Amino acid sequence: MAEFCLDCWNKLTGTQYRPQYCILSEEPELCVGCGEWKPVLIRFRRRYLLAEWFHSNKARFSRKKDKS
Ligand SMILES: [Zn+2]
Repeated sequence: MAEFCLDCWNKLTGTQYRPQYCILSEEPELCVGCGEWKPVLIRFRRRYLLAEWFHSNKARFSRKKDKS
């Protein structure tokens, strides 16, 4: 599986996840994005993702509510 550091992940996906949103490897790994040895992304913390998702979808929810 390709491993990316948080910087590369954000660049690739157009997101701006902060380090506290995710779990990074304790030991540096070779990032396939920038080719540097950095802590790489292991997974995201679910509660932060949910908060982020809710925040980004709030507009859509309220629009939906207005329609119905
Ligand atoms: Zn990288």
